[in-house]
Amino acid sequence: MSCKVSRTLHSEQTPFQKLDVIETTEFGRMLVLDGMVQTTEADEFVYHEMIAHVAMQTHPSPRRVAVIGGGDGGAVREVLKYASVQQVRLVEIDRRVVEASRTFFPGLSAGLDDPRVECLYVDGVQHIREHKGEYDVILVDSTEPVGPAVGLFSQEFYRECFESLAPEGILVAQTESPFFNKELIARAFRAIAAVFPVSRLYLASVPTYPSGLWSFSLGSKGPDPLDVEPDLTGIETRYYTPGIHKAAFQLPRFVQELIETDTNGGG
Ligand code: SAM
Repeated sequence: MSCKVSRTLHSEQTPFQKLDVIETTEFGRMLVLDGMVQTTEADEFVYHEMIAHVAMQTHPSPRRVAVIGGGDGGAVREVLKYASVQQVRLVEIDRRVVEASRTFFPGLSAGLDDPRVECLYVDGVQHIREHKGEYDVILVDSTEPVGPAVGLFSQEFYRECFESLAPEGILVAQTESPFFNKELIARAFRAIAAVFPVSRLYLASVPTYPSGLWSFSLGSKGPDPLDVEPDLTGIETRYYTPGIHKAAFQLPRFVQELIETDTNGGG
């Protein structure tokens, strides 16, 4: 995938990573961390809707939500569409990502000013370890598993997430591309399946991510996303629909094989 960069809007080295905001001809503004595309104006809705709505629709009444990473604010924006939500904690290690998003991506970050939102600038691993039984939904909207995000892909972290969730709680973690990250998906899914009674993998099509095909791993303490009839009354989306909710769990054979030994009957 290539695109034309018309202008660099911002570039800095934060204490955690290199942060660039560039203007592209094809995808509008693009947030890049350590040279890796994080989000673009043109296709951000796909990723942010799919990381948020599957869990939000599956939980019977999500009230307390944690977004780990996700400093651009896109996942928080989607979570706030639910009237049941009383509290959203954005747990982002790098304050500069949030500040840059507020400046350059108002469409993503606007929700961060909602009174239900609290922004915490700490390591997500530490936060989850210190908050037990508090959340209905945890969304791990992390960077690639290098640098500060390594711990967010570990079995220990998924176990801590289980403990950080209330009964019926649901975890969704972005788990990269089935073309380029086979081992990571197999390992992350196996780790989640070892901890949660219900584990599912689902896919979405995100043009600006490597290979365009993206995976999300879900662990649930009870509710199964395959049993859900999504209700989008009063909720606007551009990618996620009740049909997409079901279709996303239909896996191509080569993806199914990545997790085959570990599925609990669905997928
Ligand atoms: N949608 C993106 C993707 O999949 O490419 C992820 C976007 S979001 C900008 C990822 C965020 O995770 C980054 O801002 C990064 O600073 C944050 N992050 C990485 N490791 C973290 C950690 N251990 N705790 C909290 N936030 C972390």
